[in-house]
Amino acid sequence: MDYVLKYRLLPTTSQREHLDWVRDTVRQVYNHALHRFNRIPDSAGTVTQRVRQVRGELPELKDWWTDLRNIYSTVLQEAVERIDTNITNLGKLKEAGYTVGSLNWQAPHEYRSFTYRQTGFELDEKSGPAGRGLLTLKKVNGETLEVPIRLHRDIPTETHVKHVTVKKDKTGAWYACLSVERDTPEKPAPSDIDTADTVGIDLGILSFIHDSDGRQIERLDLSADRERLEREQHNLSRKQYGSNNWEEQRRRVATVHKRMGNKKADFKHKVAAFYTSEYDAVFVENLNVKGMLEGGRNSRNTAEVGWRDFITILRHHGRKHGCHVVEVDPENTTQKCHQCGVTTAKPLWVREHSCPSCGYTTDRDYNAALNVWERGVEKLGVVHSEDTPAETATATETENSASVSASRVVETGSPYLKEAVADG
Ligand SMILES: [Zn+2]
Repeated sequence: MDYVLKYRLLPTTSQREHLDWVRDTVRQVYNHALHRFNRIPDSAGTVTQRVRQVRGELPELKDWWTDLRNIYSTVLQEAVERIDTNITNLGKLKEAGYTVGSLNWQAPHEYRSFTYRQTGFELDEKSGPAGRGLLTLKKVNGETLEVPIRLHRDIPTETHVKHVTVKKDKTGAWYACLSVERDTPEKPAPSDIDTADTVGIDLGILSFIHDSDGRQIERLDLSADRERLEREQHNLSRKQYGSNNWEEQRRRVATVHKRMGNKKADFKHKVAAFYTSEYDAVFVENLNVKGMLEGGRNSRNTAEVGWRDFITILRHHGRKHGCHVVEVDPENTTQKCHQCGVTTAKPLWVREHSCPSCGYTTDRDYNAALNVWERGVEKLGVVHSEDTPAETATATETENSASVSASRVVETGSPYLKEAVADG
């Protein structure tokens, strides 16, 4: 399985200049190659064959375009091959019903990255300044650069980095996207799973998550960032459109935006990493069905975008950790009493589940999480063991509920979530 890990690069000023030089030269190579490609008649072969023909001209090109000798050869090859990728993507757009023309010449702000394949780079996880990693890149404007890299997530030991794409984003920051390959651990067979190693998750409204083991993970508090964003946007609206000040302010707005996005993603990754490494199976509601049941437009829809994103991340971590991620039928998970199965209408503001039929009283979302869990166990075919969360719940009511703060999750990740269970 291949996936991409994105890390911030911390190049020095002179390293930046070299990286930028390669980026812009590679852009010119792409544009030149596109020009050459367009001169080859369609009858000369498939797109891939014609692109390869242009790629084959690279050695000759270096005879007169001597700057190219200062760039690693696979970087140049990859730039030419992007024509193939881009044409494939245009085809997909056409199929999807979009009106598309031919490939365009790439302006400086459009062409943001270059890629090393297999060789020409080396990643050292520890030797950088202040415990940072170092990414060594060969032939960056003729020089070998050792660029500090912020490896905020550990790279699993069994991975192999296949490609490195060096990218400059709109805010001017540099990133390395490592395309890595690793063996996917096998998921345990449902018959081998103990119900104690499974969990149901209710994607909440007030809290981010409520699970069938009584954990309640709070929403990430981004109010300070939102205020900052509003302030910066207000400032932007007062600048003259297109002026230098405007451009500078626009960059500031983009940076705040980006930071908020990063915080959210980081939080979701930590929560997903915890659940998929701690359990053999994680159950969540099927949001597509849920949306239909609730008839589209209501207050939950904005939150739904975030949840979908979370489920995608959860699946990704599930593959990585060999954990089943199963989506279950969401119908009446909130209304149904987990103890006796009787369904009672429950408006959004009623935060407690109090069953008129059997008297079972617990938190509304905890009851829902238990229902999600039960449906998941059934759907995946996990055999019930003696000790089910439902029984624990009867004994202790909501006593086993532990609230987990989002900021602590962000700071310390999984160990903290584990502690919260132990205490709860
Ligand atoms: Zn009941």
